[in-house]
Amino acid sequence: MSQPDIPFPNSPVVPTMVAETHVIEFSCHKGIGCWNACCSNIDISLTPYDVLRMKKRLGISSTEFLKEYTVPYEMEKDGIAGIKFRPVEGGSACRFMKPEGCDIYTDRPTACRYYPVALLSMRKQDEYVDRDSYAIVKEEHCKGHQVNRPITIADYRKEQGLEEYDELARGWRQLVLKKKSSGPSIGKPSLRSRQLFFMACYDIDRFREFVSAESFAKLFDLPQEEKAVLLKDDVALLQFAFRFLRQVMFGEESIALNAEAAQERLAKVQEKRLIEEREAAKKRALEAEQETGGDEGFD
Ligand code: SF4
Ligand code: SF4
Repeated sequence: MSQPDIPFPNSPVVPTMVAETHVIEFSCHKGIGCWNACCSNIDISLTPYDVLRMKKRLGISSTEFLKEYTVPYEMEKDGIAGIKFRPVEGGSACRFMKPEGCDIYTDRPTACRYYPVALLSMRKQDEYVDRDSYAIVKEEHCKGHQVNRPITIADYRKEQGLEEYDELARGWRQLVLKKKSSGPSIGKPSLRSRQLFFMACYDIDRFREFVSAESFAKLFDLPQEEKAVLLKDDVALLQFAFRFLRQVMFGEESIALNAEAAQERLAKVQEKRLIEEREAAKKRALEAEQETGGDEGFD
């Protein structure tokens, strides 16, 4: 199964964008000649909501899920990270593939649900909303395209349960798009903000510990009742994680800071700026001295 989110040259993704009203002819069903062919050779990126569903299904923590079933990758050079399914040891097949089909079918990830459609979310630099359009993936081995079952992409999304999956991962997509479209004006995210992005998006159980910690309460003024709800509900916590990251990565003040912490933070920023200015002045003085020193002996 090819990577459905990012069409690239020579990929089986037909590079024509289509709308939700576009009709495809497709059916995938047990007994078809190519059964499991797509799951035998995977390159599947996962969304944060995919992780939530699968770790719950498997009865393990998000930390265990990440370690056992995923590999990280860079979505862009020096940028934020994504995660992909880790295939079977020494092979390319999905670890959930069984002769009778997908072993986690009702919790299968977004990319598996979309196939053979690819979701293309876009956001222009001067726009605040992201827009979805779609592309069709046609791979030679997939016989599903030969079945005469016309269906609009909108209905296909409904049939595959994608409305919920897309809605609950929207905050993550917006962060990724905003980071990609803002480019050098935001600059390379610091190691700390990249680590926070990874934890908050993919490792929800560690993020829960982070939000529960005293250091978080010292910095953020989050009402107790709101916090109690978040800590009990993975989905609510994930939506909060996206809100938190908008603040960390783009300075959107969506979570109130404690007055004392805000003061401390301001003082630290001012102190850092002062140190930087002093360093810069020292450097300039040193350069000027070297220049003067270089002139000696010519008099
Ligand atoms: S999760 Fe299921 S549908 Fe997706 S690649 Fe694995 S076996 Fe196939
Ligand atoms: S029809 Fe396509 S999606 Fe279905 S099993 Fe065959 S290759 Fe996979």
